[in-house]
Amino acid sequence: MKKGDKLAVKDGYAVCPVCRHKTSQAIRPDTVADNLQLWCRNCKAIHLVKIDRGQCSMISRCR
Ligand SMILES: [Zn+2]
Repeated sequence: MKKGDKLAVKDGYAVCPVCRHKTSQAIRPDTVADNLQLWCRNCKAIHLVKIDRGQCSMISRCR
């Protein structure tokens, strides 16, 4: 994954860009966030993401 890549959203939750596991971060169709820290339990890493109305994109991996 690199900056600007789109993240998948599954069943209303963001999917980890690295391991593709569903995270506990809920994404609504109208969610807007910048530099959101997306924590993945599976790879125990935080990913910085940007969410623009349900479109989630990767900023960087910050661990
Ligand atoms: Zn992960």
